[in-house]
Amino acid sequence: MRIISPETLIKAGTLQTYSDIFQNSTLMAAAFFLFGLVLGSFLNVCIYRMPRELSVVSPRSACPACGTPISAYDNIPVLSWIILGGKCRNCKAPISPRYAIVELITGVFFVLSLLIGGPGPNAFKLSAFSFLMIGLVFTDAETKLLPDLLTKPGIGLGLFFSLLVPLEGPAAHFFPGVENWRVLSFINSLAGAALGSAFILGIAVAYEALRGVEGMGRGDVKLMGLIGAFVGVKLTLMVLLLGSLVGSCFGILLILMVWRKRMARRRDRHRAEGGAARRSRAWQSAILIYRNFEIPFGVFLGMGAMIAAFWGDGILRWYMHFFPMR
Ligand SMILES: [Zn+2]
Repeated sequence: MRIISPETLIKAGTLQTYSDIFQNSTLMAAAFFLFGLVLGSFLNVCIYRMPRELSVVSPRSACPACGTPISAYDNIPVLSWIILGGKCRNCKAPISPRYAIVELITGVFFVLSLLIGGPGPNAFKLSAFSFLMIGLVFTDAETKLLPDLLTKPGIGLGLFFSLLVPLEGPAAHFFPGVENWRVLSFINSLAGAALGSAFILGIAVAYEALRGVEGMGRGDVKLMGLIGAFVGVKLTLMVLLLGSLVGSCFGILLILMVWRKRMARRRDRHRAEGGAARRSRAWQSAILIYRNFEIPFGVFLGMGAMIAAFWGDGILRWYMHFFPMR
């Protein structure tokens, strides 16, 4: 675990020995984890309330089944869910494991933000990005909605972080006279946001024109604008690629699963039917279900964006190994 360069700290006189540094790093990682758990708990409130247009500030959380307010000692991230066995203390209605999962994932990604981003503004940038992405992915998965309350401030936050953490991109090429890295970084962030949202908008318009129904919502356009503002042009392209890859795998799995179920059902109900006919009938009905299934693109784009933000540079370096420069 390398968070701080020990030499720097020892030279600066802030720390004396390596054991100090180890304790310091572990403490910092623990602080990020706890902070992530608490913000993950807040995200659960957002995921439930934002699509229902309820305030995320008040009133305090209550059981959706019986309405009993949840007391502070039953509201400890992850632990309370385990202690209560995933049930409301009062009415024993099941509480979705999503609550504990969101809290845990947020905690883990906050620690990763520190480990990968290093101690400094990049750790906060990656944490903020994880917070937004986890919130949006889970809201989209549950409700097929991407609330403006997360996407719109998220775009602003992405632009703001470009002033603190240098973002690479085409700006230096187009504005050779500009020397201030913050100006260039901000332009790169704007370019990423523009590319991401324009791409999705283009697909959405083309899809509507071709099939007469809305395929991708305007929420996806804002989501991709937010992602672009955070990761810049190059990684935005990677997100679009990863998102469509993950989405395609999901689509194929969905078709195969429905197909298998339909095969089993036809085997029970139409015993006289031949194998070939059964396969083709089941396949047709699987395709039909897939066509009518509303695919949560936001989930795949968000997952692709997390991979790109945390590991994208490494993936690009690895990929470039196959094309040695002459
Ligand atoms: Zn209850």
